[in-house]
Order: sequence, then C-alpha cells, then structure tokens
Amino acid sequence: MSREPAIAAIVASGLNHRYEIRHEIGAGATGTVYLAHDSFEQRDVALKIALPQIFSGDSPEQAIVRKAWLNEVHLAGSLQHPYIVAVYDAGVSASSAYLVMEYLAGGTLEPYTRPDNLKTVPEILEIMYKCASALDYACRAGIVHRDIKPANLQYVGHGEAKVCDFGAAYWSTDDSTQVMDIGSLAYMAPELFRHWVTPQADIYALGIVLFQLLAGQRPFKADTPAALMYQILNGDPPLLTLYRPDLPPALEHLVRRMIARSLEDRFPDWTSVLAALSELLPSLEDNSPNKNKKPAQAELYDQLRQLPLLADLNGAQLWELLRISRWHRVPAGTLLVQEGAEAKSCYLLLKGEAKVTQRGRLINWLKEGTLFGELAFAEATPSPRSATVTAVDTVTIGKWPYRHLHKASPALQSKMLQIFFRLAAERLKKADEQYLLLYQQHLKENNLV
Ligand code: ATP
Repeated sequence: MSREPAIAAIVASGLNHRYEIRHEIGAGATGTVYLAHDSFEQRDVALKIALPQIFSGDSPEQAIVRKAWLNEVHLAGSLQHPYIVAVYDAGVSASSAYLVMEYLAGGTLEPYTRPDNLKTVPEILEIMYKCASALDYACRAGIVHRDIKPANLQYVGHGEAKVCDFGAAYWSTDDSTQVMDIGSLAYMAPELFRHWVTPQADIYALGIVLFQLLAGQRPFKADTPAALMYQILNGDPPLLTLYRPDLPPALEHLVRRMIARSLEDRFPDWTSVLAALSELLPSLEDNSPNKNKKPAQAELYDQLRQLPLLADLNGAQLWELLRISRWHRVPAGTLLVQEGAEAKSCYLLLKGEAKVTQRGRLINWLKEGTLFGELAFAEATPSPRSATVTAVDTVTIGKWPYRHLHKASPALQSKMLQIFFRLAAERLKKADEQYLLLYQQHLKENNLV
C-alpha cells in the first residue's frame, strides 16, 4: 500500500490533530502502522490505520477484513495484561478504522526464527511462558486469539514479548465461522480447518512458534497452501533434536504435546502448558554471555501463582506485583527485618523459613508463603519495626517498598489491601485466642473459677 492514502485517511478522520506522524513502521495485510507522537498524552504511540480499500467494496475478503477490524476495535482496552500490547484508543467508521497502541521499538519475533539468529533456550522459554500467560488471561476472558505467529508477537527485550493483533480473535460465544479466511496457514491447528475453535488452537500455534524459535524452521513446509494443509492434517512433525541435538527430551516432549494433531493428545488448557514450561525453566542453565543472574521472572511468577495467599489476583495483577518487587536469595542467619528500624517495605517469604524475635526472645516462626511487614503500610506514619526477622535457612524473599505499592494500579492496590486486611483480622483473632487462654490459665492458677 502506498503511504499517501493512509495519510489521507488519518487527515480525514481528524487523527492528525492529536497524533503527529513520525514515520511508517511497517505495512501488514490489512493496514499500515506508523510511529506517531500523542501530543495530548505526550508519548510515542504506534498508530495503525486500516487500508482504505477495505471500505470501498463488498467482496467477501473486504467483509472479512472489516470484521477483523471491528473485532480488534471492539476488544480494544478490554484486555489489560503486561504481555498483551496495550491499546489506548480505537475507532471504526464507514470509511476508516484505526488503533492507537503502545509503541514497542523491538520489532517482532520473526527475526529470531532464522537459523542464524536464534535466541538461547532459557530466553525462548521465558518468552514463551509470558506469551502463554497472556493467552491464558485472554482465554479466561473467553477469547481465542486464532492468529498467533511470530509476526504477532512483539519483542520487548531480553526474555519478554507481547501478544498483539487480536483481529482474528474469537469469543467462545461467537457463532461466526471465519476460521478459514484469517490467520496464517502454517500456524493453524488441524481442527480449525473443520471450523472447530477451542483455546487449544492457540496452544498449537504457540507450539509451532516455539518449534520455529528453537529449530529455525517450521515443522511443516510445502510449496502450496493445499500441500501445507495436507501436511498439517496428515504429516508428522520432525524431531526437534534433528536440528538441535542438544535439546533435552523433556523440551521435545513439551513441544510435541503443544502441536499434537489430536485435541486429546494436545495440552488441554493453558494451566497445564504453564506448569510444563515452568518445570523446564530452572533446569536449563543459560550460558550466554549476557545471562540474567536473577531468578527467571517466569519461575517467580509460577511460584506466586500457586500461593493460596495470592489466589484472588488475576494474571495481569500478579505480573504487576512481580514488576514492582525486588527478589533476593540469602543464606541462613541473614537479618531480614530489624527491630526498631524504619518500616518502608513489606515482604514475602517464598522459599525457606524465618524466625521472629523481640528483645532476643523467640515469638514466632514464619513458614514459606508468609507475608510480613505489611501492617505499617496502613499507617499514616509507619511506626518502627517491633520485632526482628532472621532467615533460618537459605531463603528466597520478595520485597515491596510501600511507595511502589502506593503507585500500583487501583485494582492491584484494592486486592492487596483486602489481603492485608484479612491477614490483620487473622492475627487479631489469634491474639484474642491467646489472650483468652492466658486469662483462663490465670483464673485457674488463682482458684478464681
Ligand atoms: P497483518 O495485517 O496480516 O496482521 P502484520 O501482523 O504483519 O500483518 P501489522 O500488525 O499491521 O502487520 O504490523 C506491521 C508492522 O508494524 C510490523 O512490522 C510490526 O512489527 C509493527 N508493529 C505493529 N504493532 C506495533 C507496535 N505496537 N509497536 C511497534 N511496532 C508495531
């Protein structure tokens, strides 16, 4: 598409009053994406404008593309997840459609599917984990993406990518059958050819992406769409170890379960994909020169996800909680909190145990999964710490400075306050019970009953 009609569409829709177009980023099959500056919000954005010819006729292809745009505009803003590209604004009219998205300068995952430009295995799995958790979130909102491919996964930075382009998305309540017309054939699950849409189609597509990121090839190759379709429906994918003999058998098994032809053999849901990915993550040592020494975020996310304490947080809130935290792994004997010190943060003991002492006397024992230091968060001027907390073995501890929690999204703040309130209520109840016990003991000892 030439640049001029798209610019004309921007002017015609009045978007140029707010968005200053800097340059074209790229052109897809249905629109052109520009880097633009939002003069109202004072930030760079990616502005996607639909191809004008989509609105100039009534061919079945034009109708399908218009529907994809409507889909995307309809969904805009409803999916808020750290690994889904944020859509700030969207609109559709009889003659144009646009999307204003967060601008991601890293390009897509496509360049990393080339055999000479592959990423390390731990980084690939970290990226896959985050995309899987984004699709799990979408799936819980009743949405199947249906067009997962490297070109729709924006690379953000080491170990991070975001899912974009929900134009082909399908609601579980939607009875439309546009399956055959949209989406890239090579990533289409076999059942989609029979118009059978389930979230497992996205698991299949992400499995093909994973295969490609690891092997630098797609599992099925053919010269014509019909031959490719035949391969998908009847062929067996080659072994990944054919291309990467160093890959562990567990990873081969995971990919095969993601791209299994039959729904019975494929992972049934995203929860099981996430569990399988997280099992693999810690076992893979990253030997790349710029290796990340901190625990993989996906690994931490997976552990947080399983804590009963945080069960009320959705995926997006859990990622946000992780983003505003600091993590440390420290040896036994490390002072985690010191009596009398200024209270500035709350903590979560993720692994290992800790003891609580007051003026040298043991008063409590903290087990894995315990949150502490949160009470002072509610105080206008936090009082100094009333006790000392010391690691009794090697512990993994997360820290949330109160000032970060104060700046968290309203949804996360309200969930955290509910958790803090529940913990405070439990502690109060326990203290009451202890007090009552002591009182009864006192009565008995003094023959007052
Ligand atoms: P299709 O229209 O078939 O989905 P596509 O996915 O290849 O095609 P687009 O989504 O239109 O294309 O994207 C075109 C280009 O714009 C791609 O190079 C993509 O990386 C880039 N792009 C898309 N969204 C963003 C964004 N939010 N930030 C930065 N670049 C983006």
